[in-house]
Amino acid sequence: MALIDYHDIDELKNGNEEKVWMAIEHHLGENSSLCRCRDCILDAAAIALNSLQPRYHVYSFHEKAGEEEDAALLKEARKAVEEAFKKVTKRPHHF
Ligand SMILES: [Zn+2]
Repeated sequence: MALIDYHDIDELKNGNEEKVWMAIEHHLGENSSLCRCRDCILDAAAIALNSLQPRYHVYSFHEKAGEEEDAALLKEARKAVEEAFKKVTKRPHHF
């Protein structure tokens, strides 16, 4: 068995994922003309997450970020999502 099979990798979380999904919801709410298909939304999430610094932590040991830090991270995520949707809209992968 591989090492990965002995460890609970669900405990390993990128803190930016939650922020990016919040930012996507916000962005779609503000931009009614954007495509909401699975391909476009997942592509935008992937592009946004790849453009941000990873923020991995072990879920069970996670200490919540302070309010100020949290707001700053959400602002970064919103900017990343905005840029990601520009790319996806320019070259969508949907059929
Ligand atoms: Zn689409």
